[in-house]
Amino acid sequence: MLTKIPHKGNETMSFTTLGLSAHLLDTLEAKGYTQPTPIQTQVIPLVLRGRDILGAAQTGTGKTAAFALPIIQKLVKDVEATQSSARALVIVPTRELASQVALAIESYAEGLNITCIALFGGANMARQAKELGEGVDIIVATPGRLIELNKQGHIPLSRIQYLVFDEADTIFDMGFIREIEQIIDLLPVNRQNMLFSATMTPSVKQLSEKILKKPLLVEIDNLKAADMTLRQVVHPVEKERKKELLSFLIGSNNYSQVLIFTRTKVEADEVSSELTLSGLKNVVIHGNKKHGARDRALSEFREGTARILVATDIAARGLDIEGLPVVINYDIPHVSTDYLHRIGRTGRAGNEGLAITLLSSGEHHSWSKIIAMLGKNVETILVEGFEPPADQGLLKTRGKSMSKDGEKKAKTDGAFGNKRKKAPVQPKFIGKRGPRVAREEPVDKGNSPARGSAFGNKKPSPSKSGGRGR
Ligand code: AMP
Repeated sequence: MLTKIPHKGNETMSFTTLGLSAHLLDTLEAKGYTQPTPIQTQVIPLVLRGRDILGAAQTGTGKTAAFALPIIQKLVKDVEATQSSARALVIVPTRELASQVALAIESYAEGLNITCIALFGGANMARQAKELGEGVDIIVATPGRLIELNKQGHIPLSRIQYLVFDEADTIFDMGFIREIEQIIDLLPVNRQNMLFSATMTPSVKQLSEKILKKPLLVEIDNLKAADMTLRQVVHPVEKERKKELLSFLIGSNNYSQVLIFTRTKVEADEVSSELTLSGLKNVVIHGNKKHGARDRALSEFREGTARILVATDIAARGLDIEGLPVVINYDIPHVSTDYLHRIGRTGRAGNEGLAITLLSSGEHHSWSKIIAMLGKNVETILVEGFEPPADQGLLKTRGKSMSKDGEKKAKTDGAFGNKRKKAPVQPKFIGKRGPRVAREEPVDKGNSPARGSAFGNKKPSPSKSGGRGR
């Protein structure tokens, strides 16, 4: 039986009322977090009270701090604990996310004697084993590498007290069902569990029923949070002219940083080549790229050496690129909720954001499903010189024309109630050591389960994710 926690609103909330220690409050202040996000307001006190959580939220809502802060506080307090054994385990779907979450945890644990390691496929296993042997408090891992290390006897999972599934829907999308079952069987029965997912697929529901004890359901309206800082526009265009329009938009608006989403790996490569031909330097991440190439691409993008990143849905899921101003949907995602995952990369942490969608005539059906999910229309703008022929039905959309001089950004308020950050900063490594990394995780396992509709909505959508080559 699920108990739903009503959303109290965030206006008057402050971190000081959530039960966090003075040390953690100082850390948050130093990080410039002036106010907890809705999910932090709800989840932190519940985790501190020892409750299991089913969280309906995606990255960008401040979810990492929501589970990490109370876990860190509890680990610090637990004086009886054996320091050499990991006590918290966070399972994430991708290596990029493992690294990102571990970095965030290290930043929240600054100045405390809490260590965190990121484990994912790729790097030297012997070195990872050695570091694990030295003792670590929190493990952030992708399922594949965790199992591998466990088989070799390197992962001490018998003392895990806190288990977190982050982006559970993506974990299942990637086909890690068997690995998840194996991991659960390795853990002690008495532990506190938290499961976060943007969508409630049948597999996620099954997992939550299996592992969560009297869970409290915390639902964060991702869209509303994003809406406040995010402007969404759609540009109708003929399919054959999408790449041209893409180059034009990026070039003419001189976006400082832009993340382009494509549905497939082939499309990602094609878009990348076309941009290169147009003189727009870009990097690509998708499931066929090697570990080193993905790492390099991401760091070049984060550091600003490359201002364009082309990515497939899964490769970029959950990535937090601080201050990312623009996301472009080169195509319409198969699964409507992937649209939320995509646009959620921008307009985060109180920054402004712009989400542009390129829409061709064959994509109207998928787009109308997204509009239905959003419950509102998206501003349609015809780009001069790229208008599709009227007989494609695209001009029927209510919209206005945009000149080639570009668009004006809408002025919006910060979603987190904090001041808008002007110069995004990367989190620093802190703690005893930084997160460590490893080898390529199998990204396309091809046995993805059908994805359901958005959390709470029990109506499953037809499966399209399996074998869609992301
Ligand atoms: P997450 O959803 O955990 O990936 O967080 C998204 C972004 O929001 C990250 O860059 C965090 O550093 C930032 N963030 C998390 N909580 C807050 C907060 N209370 N105030 C401001 N920024 C935050």
